Amino acid sequence: MHAVEKKVRAFVRVKPTAQFAQDVIKFGPDNKSIDIYIKKDAKKGVVNNKQTDWSFKLDGVLHNTSQELTYETVAKKLVSEALVGYNGTIMCYGQTGAGKTYTMTGATAEYKHRGIIPRAVQQVFKAITRSVDSFITVRISYLEIYNETLCDLLSTMTSSGASDVQMAIVDCPQGVYVKGLSIHSVSDEEDALNLLFEGETNRVIAEHTLNKNSSRSHCIFTIYIQSRFRVLSDVRCINSKINLIDLAGSERLSKTGSEGRVLKEAAYINKSLSFLEQIIIALADPKREHIPFRQSKLTHVLKDSLGGKCNTVLVANICGEALHVEETLSSLRFATRMKWITTEPVINVTYDSEGTVKALEKEISLLKQELAMHDSLVNRSSVTYDPLTDVQVAEIKSQIHKYLQGDIDEIDLTVHSMEFITVYQIPLSSKQYMHLQSSTV
Ligand code: ADP
Ligand code: MG
Repeated sequence: MHAVEKKVRAFVRVKPTAQFAQDVIKFGPDNKSIDIYIKKDAKKGVVNNKQTDWSFKLDGVLHNTSQELTYETVAKKLVSEALVGYNGTIMCYGQTGAGKTYTMTGATAEYKHRGIIPRAVQQVFKAITRSVDSFITVRISYLEIYNETLCDLLSTMTSSGASDVQMAIVDCPQGVYVKGLSIHSVSDEEDALNLLFEGETNRVIAEHTLNKNSSRSHCIFTIYIQSRFRVLSDVRCINSKINLIDLAGSERLSKTGSEGRVLKEAAYINKSLSFLEQIIIALADPKREHIPFRQSKLTHVLKDSLGGKCNTVLVANICGEALHVEETLSSLRFATRMKWITTEPVINVTYDSEGTVKALEKEISLLKQELAMHDSLVNRSSVTYDPLTDVQVAEIKSQIHKYLQGDIDEIDLTVHSMEFITVYQIPLSSKQYMHLQSSTV
């Protein structure tokens, strides 16, 4: 299959604010470029060659953009391509409070403020309702990575907030999977949304028991889609997954002035986000052969979902206030790097041998019915197309033998018996053959 080369797409979404820093953040008329201006530090004098202007060009700037338009711009195409077999990943990156969770999950209070996850679920089930020639199943998992520990947001939790199953990331030829992570079949949109809310509730419970904050962990909501359909006598099976990722806050350690537990969390986050950045730089370099995915849980889990063979979209969530300009710059840099990556998405097709056998059995039974109908129309309803049993073989052999010996003048033969004579190469004179044939019809 010929793969089409694509770039990772990166968007920036600005959180609405009354104190938007118009002198610092400027948007280009193309709706894709964003410039950052920082006034020169007066105290450092005139001889100050610190760069003060930055220009970024992304795939789109989402400023004062509704949840609906954000979904259409960022996710719709990726989800429809997942329905035909391409894996897809959407990630929200940015400092705490910049709108990652709002973009990914949305505000639960109002339906129109729902985010990418519920809208993606809706799009998938709408497509299923419309599909007539395939059988599609949808499953869901919700994984949280906190301080390099994997946590299943959809399994029954122990009182410590941890899942009782020990989870591990496993590489296999079909891709990466998390051993021990529960994956739930869902039959409709409501089922899937219930799981999302269950996961959100577990996230809050785990937060209390572990004394953590949701912005300190990475959350990956995955929709697994499997469609089976027939192509002639083969049952073709297409598997794909959509990873919807709410990354931990990317703010720098120094700014938070943290200590103790918070310091440890920040160190883990900084490490995993900087490994993510390293992976992105490595993926963008065509000369690099080894990509060190295994250096953090986040990058390892995303091994088959970042660049490579899938569609990848990044949303850099930024705050519009001057106070946050350093974080904004760092998020925009990250988003620009993502755009360097080239991907070659491929469809994940497998042939389902069990399904193929079942389909062939069904076809054989239909053909037999058709033959029986045809035979009864030409008065041959006694003919059977099942293989001969040992007893039948012995009986036919004995009759033919007797006939050839001249012991009997007539034999009770069926079409099968004529085939039998051919298969067993029983020598007959042309007179005997003609006689036999006339007695079988
Ligand atoms: P993050 O997950 O990045 O820490 P949140 O998504 O929790 O940030 O956003 C912080 C607050 O700002 C929330 O109350 C959220 O509802 C609000 N918010 C974020 N982005 C938007 C937006 N585009 N429009 C309206 N409110 C937003
Ligand atoms: Mg959040």
